[in-house]
Amino acid sequence: MSGTPSDIKLIDENGIRIDGRKVDEMRPLKIEAGVLKRADGSAYLEWGKNKVIAAVYGPRECHPRHMQNPAKAIVQCKYNMMSFSVSDRKRPGPDRRSIEISKIISEALENVVFTENFPRTSIDVYIEVLQANAGTRVAGLTAASVALADAGIPMKDLVPAVAVGKADGQIVLDLNKEEDNYGSADLPIAMIPRTGEVVLMQMDGHMTMEEVDIALGYATKACREIYEVQKDALRRRYAVQAGAVDEDDSSDEEA
Ligand code: UDP
Repeated sequence: MSGTPSDIKLIDENGIRIDGRKVDEMRPLKIEAGVLKRADGSAYLEWGKNKVIAAVYGPRECHPRHMQNPAKAIVQCKYNMMSFSVSDRKRPGPDRRSIEISKIISEALENVVFTENFPRTSIDVYIEVLQANAGTRVAGLTAASVALADAGIPMKDLVPAVAVGKADGQIVLDLNKEEDNYGSADLPIAMIPRTGEVVLMQMDGHMTMEEVDIALGYATKACREIYEVQKDALRRRYAVQAGAVDEDDSSDEEA
């Protein structure tokens, strides 16, 4: 996040952003559950120009053993950005940013999974960002919770997440890349609509208390919308399973 160069205007005089959205409008969101056969649960998500895949394995025996918790499962997330996902090639492998994002997503998910049902195990969540355009941590978390549900892991609820921020002095919902780069604040948040519980909240930049209020209002409304898209993805997934025999599955078993 850096200061806006004077020639870049992020919001025009009619309150329209550079991608044509209003300040409280989200980018189009699509989620598909159960896209990978080898994973216990999976989800593919497109959110504006972001493309993210999430895969879940487990609960399975936790290795190395010293990481096991005799009282509950641990949720281990690995967030990774593909080299080709950003305009400047990203060096492969973990870096400070991906380690931080993996940690905060693991913690957010541990709040909703009934970990005490599966002592000594690990629930492994892999998030691969195929294409990035700001908001990949919230996109990853949104996809991961659908993948966990697809894996049949008992959870309190799904976790919708969105980033709210500030561009040209105005609070905007669901930052795009330009707003993330040249805006003055970024507030990713994950909220369970049913209870209002916040399981992730970060803040980069500055907002006044009034601006935080507006931002939380936008985020609350957006999380409700995202939650419906998540539930719809799971409904479609199980409607397909109930209605049709999966031909690829049967050929796998024969092989
Ligand atoms: N980004 C990039 N290269 C990197 C890391 C990030 O181009 O090595 C871009 C990418 O589009 C990402 C955006 O910067 O979505 C914002 O990154 P941030 O750390 O704020 O996380 P995000 O908004 O993706 O959750």
